[in-house]
Amino acid sequence: MERHMRPARAALFAMLAATLVVLGPWIGWWPLAPLGVGVAGFLIADRVMPKSSRPEYCIMAAWAVAQLMIGMSVVFTGGPRSLFLPWLAIPAATLSARFNTRGVIAGVVWTVAIMIAASVGVNPTVIADSPQRLLVPLTLLVGVTLLTTALMHSDVKHRAAATIDPLTGLFNRQSLTLRAAELIEQARVTQTPMALMIGDLDHFKEVNDRHGHLVGDDVLREIANILRTTLRTFDYIYRYGGEEFVILLPGTGEATAVATAKRLRAAVAGSQPAGLDMTMSFGVSVSNCQETTLDDLLVAADRALYDAKADGRDRVRVGHALEAIPLKTP
Ligand code: GH3
Ligand code: MG
Ligand code: MG
Repeated sequence: MERHMRPARAALFAMLAATLVVLGPWIGWWPLAPLGVGVAGFLIADRVMPKSSRPEYCIMAAWAVAQLMIGMSVVFTGGPRSLFLPWLAIPAATLSARFNTRGVIAGVVWTVAIMIAASVGVNPTVIADSPQRLLVPLTLLVGVTLLTTALMHSDVKHRAAATIDPLTGLFNRQSLTLRAAELIEQARVTQTPMALMIGDLDHFKEVNDRHGHLVGDDVLREIANILRTTLRTFDYIYRYGGEEFVILLPGTGEATAVATAKRLRAAVAGSQPAGLDMTMSFGVSVSNCQETTLDDLLVAADRALYDAKADGRDRVRVGHALEAIPLKTP
């Protein structure tokens, strides 16, 4: 998140600095110093964050310092009379993208405290005579925070709808492409194997034909649940097509992948989704080389699945991804 914000953050600071430079002859050059401290705070946070176990605290600290520095600029330019008081509402637009609800509330409270300190604290009489000097920036702050938080929540909902399969609640095919690319890259960098398997329900068409589509849907939901609860928490499961599921097993070699597939096969065979006897066939493929792509793994697993079906279904077969792919074992 922070990485994506950097260009906009740099542009904003550059614009604020340019404004202060242009206004320098009228308001003095002092307000530039706090702005420099604010920039420095973010640059330090950028360096510390990758090594920190709580990166959100680093960016929270940088954000809080930047607000304090804008508050200082307000004090240097007339306190309650400063036209820069509303500037404190600008960083509030980033709160909901960076922090959880508690962080957003803490950010707003911190900003309100700075607004009051930089206006009422410097000259209470001015605010008593013209309360709009404080009220207008305060409403701006609350308005910006409310709107950006609503936008953020709507964005999260849209993204969930684009990546989650509505029937089973599993990730859908699109999210497989994104996640697999990251995991394959991670496997390449750390030189660890990664396994992929495709599970396909046997004779599922007959369920629809005999019992109807709604019962078929119930079976799919229950099967998804069985697969999810049988896997490790850090394995990834996707609904790939109608009754086909793709499972990614990071850091897993062939022996463990086959054992996992056998466990899933037994779990499906031992359950009775929607009161019906169901079985599932599995095709497994493993990458331990640098050149593997998602397509290589899918093709190999699909070939193995075809073998499992041809051999009588309700079984696990391993694909030969590595034969087709140049192998670079460490
Ligand atoms: P095999 O053992 O060879 O895999 O046979 P199969 O009958 O499982 O395979 P096939 O691919 O012929 O049938 C898959 C069926 O899945 C066909 C399609 O109507 C059904 N299907 C696909 N999506 C859904 C869904 O969302 N709900 C329901 N109820 N059925 C679905
Ligand atoms: Mg099938
Ligand atoms: Mg199928």
